[in-house]
Amino acid sequence: MLEDYNKKRDFNKTKEPKGIKKKSTSKKLKFIIQHHLATKDHYDFRLEYNGVLVSFAVPKGPSFKTTDKRLAVKVEDHPLSYANFEGTIPQGEYGAGTVMLFDVGTWEPYKNKSVDFKKGPVKFTLNGSRFKGKWALIKFKDNNWLLIKEKDQFVSNTKIEKYKTSIKTGRTMQEIKDNITPIDNSIELTNPKKIIFKKEGITKEDIFNYYKSIGDKMMPFLDNRLISTVRCPNGNLKETFYMKHLNTDSKDIGKKKITGKNNEESYYYYIKNINGLLSEVQMNSYEYHIWGSKQNSIKKPDILVFDLDPDENLSLKNVRACVKDLKSILDKLHLKSYLKTSGGKGYHVYVPLKRTSWKECEKIASSISDLMVLNNPDKYTTNMRKNKREKKIFIDYFRNKEGATSVAPYSLRLKSGASISCPIKWSELDTIKPKDITIKNISTRLKRKNPWADFFN
Ligand code: MN
Repeated sequence: MLEDYNKKRDFNKTKEPKGIKKKSTSKKLKFIIQHHLATKDHYDFRLEYNGVLVSFAVPKGPSFKTTDKRLAVKVEDHPLSYANFEGTIPQGEYGAGTVMLFDVGTWEPYKNKSVDFKKGPVKFTLNGSRFKGKWALIKFKDNNWLLIKEKDQFVSNTKIEKYKTSIKTGRTMQEIKDNITPIDNSIELTNPKKIIFKKEGITKEDIFNYYKSIGDKMMPFLDNRLISTVRCPNGNLKETFYMKHLNTDSKDIGKKKITGKNNEESYYYYIKNINGLLSEVQMNSYEYHIWGSKQNSIKKPDILVFDLDPDENLSLKNVRACVKDLKSILDKLHLKSYLKTSGGKGYHVYVPLKRTSWKECEKIASSISDLMVLNNPDKYTTNMRKNKREKKIFIDYFRNKEGATSVAPYSLRLKSGASISCPIKWSELDTIKPKDITIKNISTRLKRKNPWADFFN
């Protein structure tokens, strides 16, 4: 079944794998989607079956909407090893162009357990990072099939163009084309000179080096905590997005299955060590948000967070007064608190807790915040609606709920200025502005005593 595949390719010229039929090494059937920028831009959809990858070329790519019926042209079977192929096929060769691993996962047929790729239809579920749930392949003429998303909780209006990087290596099409070395779980940096902060001239490599230098101070706050990250794959600060469910198989990153309110299961991730952090930077994750609990005691938060977020036009004097108000309440309660810049408009106050319940954690945070509003209703609010926040400081205690995150100490912010959410001393509150500490000037600060050194004691 791989004769066609082999006939079409000259393996002295292309780096694609030779077509040898192999027995699968796992019980589960693999699926892959490759974005293939050839003469015509398209996506290749491949399902492992009987020792090969049954393959379809999908010109527009799969859609997450049930109303989109996407043409899928059945092409020659590919070898299983094609599931690892990412790179360029040289000019003049069959399929010349760039191939990116767009999604990788497992699939299984439902309804009919016997699968017929001659006649169809084939109904199946995908379990990938980007593509999940029920799908159908329906044959209508010769090699022409339709690939259709079937109704389930994974239906969405998301356009696949949203995904611009490889699921495996984090590289963009351009980076693959430029043959910037593939990494595959090492933390070799691809495209180090890519500019992320234009005005400041800060590159991906600068950010990588920053996190490398901060590892020993930052890791205690990442340790075993589920994270979400903000990625910026194109070096355009206007094109960033949150990642809760990472697509990684790095051994330095752990994953944890979380069951949500509606019993839906999803995987969250935590960074195990500095290599895990750097491998995420390689994947263009530049900003890190953490849970208030650790994954091995997920129901027991040990950090209380207050995010003091002022209205645009409020002077810094007011913000600082608010932070002091908060601190004096915490002092009275004998809660030792720690201050950091937000890297944005305000400050964050952290309180280490003896492990408690989420309910208790939220109650402490809300009571303190409510008290502040009660004392100064014209200055503070706990109402997150924008129009209620005018000329006020929003005391955001909502980060003290299960599943909520706050920006990690020492995280870079993907905002103009390349600011860092940086731990500072209480005595520095009046002299350091929320955006003062940046990736460019933090190094001198790091030589001094760590103001949060005793946080976890
Ligand atoms: Mn193709």
